[in-house]
Amino acid sequence: MVARRNPRYEEEEEAPWTPKTDIGKKVANHEIVSIKQVLESGKPIREHQLVTALLPNLTQETLEIKNTQRMTGNGRKMQFRAVVLVGDGNGHLGIGAGKADEVRPAISSGAKLAKRNIIHVPLGCGSWECGCKTRHTVPIRVVGKNGSVEIMLKPAPLGVGIVANATVRKVLHAAGVKDVWTFSRGRTSSIYNTTMAVFKALDSLNNMKYYDDWERNLKSAEPANPAAETKETAAQDGENAAKEKEGEKKTEAGKEETKEAG
Ligand SMILES: [Zn+2]
Repeated sequence: MVARRNPRYEEEEEAPWTPKTDIGKKVANHEIVSIKQVLESGKPIREHQLVTALLPNLTQETLEIKNTQRMTGNGRKMQFRAVVLVGDGNGHLGIGAGKADEVRPAISSGAKLAKRNIIHVPLGCGSWECGCKTRHTVPIRVVGKNGSVEIMLKPAPLGVGIVANATVRKVLHAAGVKDVWTFSRGRTSSIYNTTMAVFKALDSLNNMKYYDDWERNLKSAEPANPAAETKETAAQDGENAAKEKEGEKKTEAGKEETKEAG
């Protein structure tokens, strides 16, 4: 199985950027200086380079490489599909699935698609138990569905950590979510569907009418504590507390199903 990861590949192969679209040109000549301006324009992003230019702190992770076989006139042909996640750990997230005959181009194409699919993730302090007024969790309970997989994200107080299976955790971490309870149903062993379900849940926050209220209720525009990795123990405690309090099951290794009304 050729499942190598080479995060430097993209940098090595990337040719100098000559912007072709209107937005691309405006980014290149600094007429557009923030990704917010691009996203608010509502126009599709056709050049991944403009996202790299506006979000230089974007990190990239390949979540899955799958080989698929395709029948052609000459017999079977092998293809690879790479699910790639990009995020800045501070409210921006993108996911792309790239296909190619070889692994590296599949990852590269996935990364480009992920950048072109970048979204803003409105974070807040949505838990009534918290009230810290910083951006550390989802402002409200949201659900996302892709294929058979359904993921629910529920606001959690500061210090709980990301209570989720490995794939869901990676996506939430990349988006900058620090504390959240998650519940899942369906075949969460499908990494692509799981990833997309989380993405859709987070993206749904962009279409909610309470958006301005959340923003007003926050202390300032300062990002939440970036040292999220050090919260493992806190996450465990919060996990147990959550279990007892709500009598609900958390998702473990993506196998369990949890049903909750609403
Ligand atoms: Zn809070």
